[in-house]
Amino acid sequence: MTVTLEGWRITGQPQIDSYVGTWVQFAATLVNRLAVTSALGRSTQPPVSGLDRLAVVREVLAEGGWPPETTVSETDAHQLADVATELSAVFCAGDALDSDRLNALLIRHAAVPNLHGGSTHPYTLTFHRPGATIVDAWAADAGTALAMVIGVGQSARLGHCQASSCDLVFFDTTRNASRRFCGVSCQNRVKASAYRARRGSPSPT
Ligand SMILES: [Zn+2]
Repeated sequence: MTVTLEGWRITGQPQIDSYVGTWVQFAATLVNRLAVTSALGRSTQPPVSGLDRLAVVREVLAEGGWPPETTVSETDAHQLADVATELSAVFCAGDALDSDRLNALLIRHAAVPNLHGGSTHPYTLTFHRPGATIVDAWAADAGTALAMVIGVGQSARLGHCQASSCDLVFFDTTRNASRRFCGVSCQNRVKASAYRARRGSPSPT
């Protein structure tokens, strides 16, 4: 799972930006799959049972190219849903970020800089301790990535869809951080609605 550097920079250091981008994207995916109650103009029901949440987490891992041997339990899936709710608040905060809440997440999941590898693999800088549970590791890495984006003055890149009835979140990698919608579907819906309003036409029922 890697994010290609294009028009955006977080630190300007490509490997750090790639790491941050990967984890911010992972955070957005977790939020959108586990914690969003409206999407693309419709209310939606995020998974609630352990089995349903676990199925979603497994899909996210498969789509993200995680090794198939990555093991996740129903308990992990429930905890990840809680993490997703916390991360959702960061994406949706805008100028009203509750930094205490994000800092509490980092403490709760024991975020700490740690060099992995070295003997057989090149060193990799992560933000979870060796032996961390999978939930702690993911929450720490994702939470740290969001904190890094905010900490370098790029919080505008943590976005949520501006269309009505859509709470999907995204990592805005446009050059000037100008993205407003989760995708073309919502963009077109808002455009059509604005067009009808200008023409004085009634909205379709
Ligand atoms: Zn949307």
